[in-house]
Amino acid sequence: MNNPLLEPFDQAPFSKIKNEHFKPAFLQAIDAAKKEIDDIVENPDAPTFQNTLEALDFAGQQLDRISSVFFNLNSAETNEEIQKIAQEVSPLLSEFSNDITLNQGLFERIKAVYDQKDTLELTPEQETLLEKKYKSFSRNGANLNDSDKKRLREIDAELSKLKLKFGENVLAETNKYEMHLTHEEDLKGLPEGEKEAAAQLAESKGKDGWLITLDYPSYIPFMKYAENRELRKELSIAFGSKGFHKDELDNQKNILKIVSLRHERANLLGYATHAHFVLEERMAETPQKVMDFLNELLEKAKPAAEREFGELETFAKSLDNIDRLEKWDSAFYSEKLKQKLFNLDDEKLKPYFKLENVINGVFKVAEKLFGLTFKEVQTIEKYHPDVKTYEVYDDKNNFISLFYADFHPRPGKRGGAWMTSYKSQYTLNGKNNRPHISNVCNFTKPTKSKPSLLTFNEVTTLFHEFGHGLHGMLANTIYPSLSGTSVYWDFVELPSQVMENWCYEKEALELFAFHYETGELIPMELVEKIKESATFQEGMATVRQLSFGFLDMAWHSKDPSNINDVKAYEAKAFEGTDLFPDTPQTCMSTSFSHIFQGGYSSGYYSYKWAEVLDADAFAHFKENGIFSKTVADKFKENVLSKGGTENPMELYKRFRGAEPNIDALLERAGLIKKAS
Ligand SMILES: [Zn+2]
Repeated sequence: MNNPLLEPFDQAPFSKIKNEHFKPAFLQAIDAAKKEIDDIVENPDAPTFQNTLEALDFAGQQLDRISSVFFNLNSAETNEEIQKIAQEVSPLLSEFSNDITLNQGLFERIKAVYDQKDTLELTPEQETLLEKKYKSFSRNGANLNDSDKKRLREIDAELSKLKLKFGENVLAETNKYEMHLTHEEDLKGLPEGEKEAAAQLAESKGKDGWLITLDYPSYIPFMKYAENRELRKELSIAFGSKGFHKDELDNQKNILKIVSLRHERANLLGYATHAHFVLEERMAETPQKVMDFLNELLEKAKPAAEREFGELETFAKSLDNIDRLEKWDSAFYSEKLKQKLFNLDDEKLKPYFKLENVINGVFKVAEKLFGLTFKEVQTIEKYHPDVKTYEVYDDKNNFISLFYADFHPRPGKRGGAWMTSYKSQYTLNGKNNRPHISNVCNFTKPTKSKPSLLTFNEVTTLFHEFGHGLHGMLANTIYPSLSGTSVYWDFVELPSQVMENWCYEKEALELFAFHYETGELIPMELVEKIKESATFQEGMATVRQLSFGFLDMAWHSKDPSNINDVKAYEAKAFEGTDLFPDTPQTCMSTSFSHIFQGGYSSGYYSYKWAEVLDADAFAHFKENGIFSKTVADKFKENVLSKGGTENPMELYKRFRGAEPNIDALLERAGLIKKAS
């Protein structure tokens, strides 16, 4: 059978690919990759950096290309058939990658090279590759004796079951609850659209009236707009007590088991705690540094948070004469106060952000900063007619990248916005192979009478994903596994978040924020309002975010063997970040899926960490002009092009001349005044 995925291709050959091509292509590419690994292990020559590490990094390229085409389609243009194939091939792929990490023969060769690394005169990029590959084995137990290895496998198997169970319980708790309302006055305050959605939900379940659930699109608007305080309380407690009902869906025992197994696993591998294990491969490096970071931010943000809380409480009292501000009042009165202070709604801003203008704007920003030009071409194959395709060139007219842009929702595309690649950059046999990068979003669609007009939030999202895109497009490394966005978790949001800053700057908005009918530039007082409203209640938001970071660290940076009361332990971790009175019926940990099901354990701090980085980096631009060529060159040279080839703190210091400082974030957030 002719299979376009198994022939060498540069651009993804979308028009030729049929669903039935995927499975056989995966099977054959996995076999080929296995053979490449076997060849490395069975090489009769003594292990060297080239015949082992380099060979390993370039092995399985065909499989990588097929996987990226397939999984990108599964996110952006899927159907039942593709989803079924995904379920079939995913276990094969994880089995293949497990086989590599458990391949003792391969590890012996890597270890042989690792043990002589000081005599090899490796480049910094090669050193990083060696370190990273070695660690990918040692952190999975390759250095352990057989009985410890066996225990590690048992722990891993049990942990993956527990994480799954934790998530299933949260989901079941979310789905189990519904608030059925039959009197329209109970929905008072909700915008018409939200009421309609609640009525539709009821109808879809064969009920009269309105249904409110714990899903965000239903829960958030109710907490924000519903005037009935008792109902807000009921919903808030239902939301906050998921997995905390002492029944078969209760997650307290699961949490205690998860943290104790994580601790045991870390100890087996020679780390003091799970946090030590995780942070070894993060920019933050140690639990102590994370705690110092969280504490420093808390100290600076707390006074603002307390002031804002006081203002909100006074406002709520003056409006409704409530006794004290509770958790279920926060979103409601904040929304009212925000409307009173700013009176800023999306409809006022949208006419200035026609999609085509915003795309042009982000391209112009990239041209002014990095000398890039984007040429729309029709010769590149697309997986859907809505996708726009570009060739990207630098200022010397060198080809830099392909860029796919896929902006509007449709059935078959998952929600949200993301950057991905069809081909990552790498250098092989002296040839720099350029990447194929894609941005996928779900922006407001054009209608018959109106073009696509973006909300301001969509504008910053577009700049954000484009920033990840630049990280991919400007990659300039040797090894594919270190290229582009393959960096430490707490560093990857720097290029994306820093781009958002341009959306608030007059000099940048002047390039693209024109009214779609009159051509008038966005009035600067509107821009000022956007900026001010962006820092509204930033102190409270910061403290809340920090509280989650503290809770995460409490669960993972200590020996958990003496913890037996989940709620009490949590309350202790929250000391110092509490603004609202405690609600005894609720518990955050029992539905904290980020850290107990997802991959954020000992990593929740990274949201704030990334903000510190992007604010500090942008401050450097501001000091020199937001389109400073010198600063942009340094950013490209030391951050955007370097991927994960060196320690991110070193890269950052080379760009900035110093370690990141939290003051820029505090100033931007309005938590401290700029020193003049
Ligand atoms: Zn991002």
